[in-house]
Amino acid sequence: MWTCRNCDARYGFDQVAPEVDDHGFFFLCPACDYKNKLVSLGRDANGNLQLVQRDDE
Ligand SMILES: [Zn+2]
Repeated sequence: MWTCRNCDARYGFDQVAPEVDDHGFFFLCPACDYKNKLVSLGRDANGNLQLVQRDDE
């Protein structure tokens, strides 16, 4: 689950689409449009990008 740091809404990984810009990965909260930062851990054995949300950002 990902949590919006602005409004505390929670989303499953399949509910929001991660995006990337010059500053890195993020997802936009569907409820409030807040830009939530994500951190890439690289790719897993299947080539899927691993994105996590740090507890403090
Ligand atoms: Zn939000």
